[in-house]
Amino acid sequence: MKIGVLAVQGDFAAHGRVLEQLGVPWCEVRHPEQLSEISGLILPGGESTTMLKFLFEEGFLEPLRDFARRGGAFFGTCAGAILLAREVTNPHQPSLGFLDISVQRNAYGRQINSFVDRVLSPAFGPPPLEMVYIRAPIITRVGPGVEVLAEHGGHPVLVQQGRCLAATFHPELTEDRRVHERFLQLVESASAR
Ligand code: GLN
Repeated sequence: MKIGVLAVQGDFAAHGRVLEQLGVPWCEVRHPEQLSEISGLILPGGESTTMLKFLFEEGFLEPLRDFARRGGAFFGTCAGAILLAREVTNPHQPSLGFLDISVQRNAYGRQINSFVDRVLSPAFGPPPLEMVYIRAPIITRVGPGVEVLAEHGGHPVLVQQGRCLAATFHPELTEDRRVHERFLQLVESASAR
């Protein structure tokens, strides 16, 4: 099992360090052909607009759809979650639409650009998950097939639909590995099928 991390912009190196700690083979993904070598793709935090432009220009869109159809798994954090969403507002922008959620970008406003909080997730149990939010989006709608794994302030912040996992916070910037471990289990169960 090899994991790819989209390495255009943003905090892809932090995801790489987590995967190294967990002893998982991984590579930085910059070309669509590389999707054939991996079973899971991480879309990191950063600027979704910049990453989206890159995906368009480098011809990633159809190869990403093929990857999803072949059973590839996705994990998006913050900007990555925005890329996976079906609908994006504030402002509206196109997205991959693999995950049936709507997100509002930069939804916490200027005053609270970044913050850290701890939330107990029923899906993981104690201890609470440490959540780092940086100019984060808010998930404003989840479709019927979407499982909410954690909430913060009444909004879903960690969701899963099929082989797609997304967090509006940054688990790669904390020491808690449970969210990445869940993604790796997802990749393994998808590969086994
Ligand atoms: N504000 C960014 C966006 O809208 C996301 C920020 C992040 O990934 N930390 O794309």
